[in-house]
Amino acid sequence: MELALDWLRNPEKEKIHADISLPELAILLGEIDIPERGEHIENVFQECREKILDNSVRINNPRYIGHMTTGVPWFSVVVDILITSMNQNQVKIETALASSFVEKQTMAWMHRLAYNKPAAFYKSVIHDETIALGNTTSGGTIGNLTALAVAREKAIPGIRKLGFLKSLQQSEYSDVVVLASQRVHYSIEKAVGLLGLGEDNIVKIPVDRCNKIKIDCLRERIIQLKQDNVLIMAMIGIAGTTETGNIDPLEELAEIAREENIWFHVDAAWGGAFLLSDDIRNVLKGIEFSDSIALDGHKLLYLPMAHGSVIFRDPHALDLLRHSTNYILRKGSVDLGATSLEGSRRFNALKLWFSVKMLGKKGYDILLKKSLQLTWCLKELIDKHDDFESTSEPELCIITYRFVPAAMQIELEKAKKDGNFDICHKINNRLNEINIDLQKKQREYGKSFVSRTTLESTGYKQEIVVLRAVLTNLLTETSFLAEILDEQRIIGMEIINT
Ligand SMILES: *Cc1c(COP(=O)(O)O)cnc(C)c1O
Repeated sequence: MELALDWLRNPEKEKIHADISLPELAILLGEIDIPERGEHIENVFQECREKILDNSVRINNPRYIGHMTTGVPWFSVVVDILITSMNQNQVKIETALASSFVEKQTMAWMHRLAYNKPAAFYKSVIHDETIALGNTTSGGTIGNLTALAVAREKAIPGIRKLGFLKSLQQSEYSDVVVLASQRVHYSIEKAVGLLGLGEDNIVKIPVDRCNKIKIDCLRERIIQLKQDNVLIMAMIGIAGTTETGNIDPLEELAEIAREENIWFHVDAAWGGAFLLSDDIRNVLKGIEFSDSIALDGHKLLYLPMAHGSVIFRDPHALDLLRHSTNYILRKGSVDLGATSLEGSRRFNALKLWFSVKMLGKKGYDILLKKSLQLTWCLKELIDKHDDFESTSEPELCIITYRFVPAAMQIELEKAKKDGNFDICHKINNRLNEINIDLQKKQREYGKSFVSRTTLESTGYKQEIVVLRAVLTNLLTETSFLAEILDEQRIIGMEIINT
């Protein structure tokens, strides 16, 4: 407990990324023998602190604004202890009595947030043992996989039993694909690979300058695919891309999906939490027309690892995955394992249940607005600063930008105006190197952390390395943002001058 409290209370005591190299870590934790005898708990704690805690990432440091994982509210630590103490197994009612009902309740809440069917509907289905509105998962990856597994069975009935080869031989199709934008999360690739379509069968549609799928390109591709007799198994809308936080035009995608009779899945692992804010949820308009939605609790719902969910508009959709066995998951039982891809599962639903009770929609609204406020604050600082360039328009708490010292900005502008793309290209290549170096150095120094990625959508005709800030750490204060930029400017200038 002391170790945990120390970690929680002093997020700024140590460097964000401990001063240890990966090879050193490999040696430190490289012992291959399982200990013959147990040790006194004090010794184990001591070893735990020295080897593990002291060499971990201080995710909760308020200047850690690099990834989607962040510090969690204090009560989640208590909830986690509770979950572990109870050690329920959600797979079947015989190991999870009330906890099965909690999980079903949270699924109904999520479903209602997204699809908003009449109250009478939820009252009648919430604890109906024949209906699963969704699954609680270990994260967005399993959520996406589950949704696409259902979409596959829907598009190619019987494939679950028959397998891909026979199903396709019996059909008139030449191939099967999934449509998504270039910003699609790699978990969709995993899912499509596992489901037998082949990872290359995600047809990636280009995005515009705002990192949203280009609707006309999408329409063209659909016409082409239909001509080639290719089955479109599903279309993905991204509600908060991992790299830039932008949202695909969900209403338009839903309309196309309806016209073409394609399964429409929304990957809202990042942005789904905004459904909880009455003021902001409008940015997700169109999500209510989707067939399925994946959302992550351990991102913007501020739950600790691991929590995700997948929900389906049609309350019978998950029947397509339903399994039964004789010793558990008997027909007509409340066993949640009947529709989940995962088998034995932790009572993670309690995290969501507890957090919603503690914070309410109002509380979440405040947290999400604070994150957005931080994002706009950083955007303003970048726009005002002579040595930085913003590279995407922030929507949901993620902003990308890069260090471009004023002198190079002038050169770049001139080259652009003169239509001299060679010069542009050279300057950008140099800037790519500088920004990679800068990001690495900032991580090494350990005072603050932003991540980086590469975008092809910045308006330059080449890939641009960008810094990526994810502003969800509730301990971050606006004044820290200027400090972080300042550190980046100093590091950037050092790189240029050496
Ligand atoms: C994080 C993320 C995922 C994957 O979720 P995990 O919880 O890491 O499995 C999928 N899609 C998007 C858009 C994400 O941001």
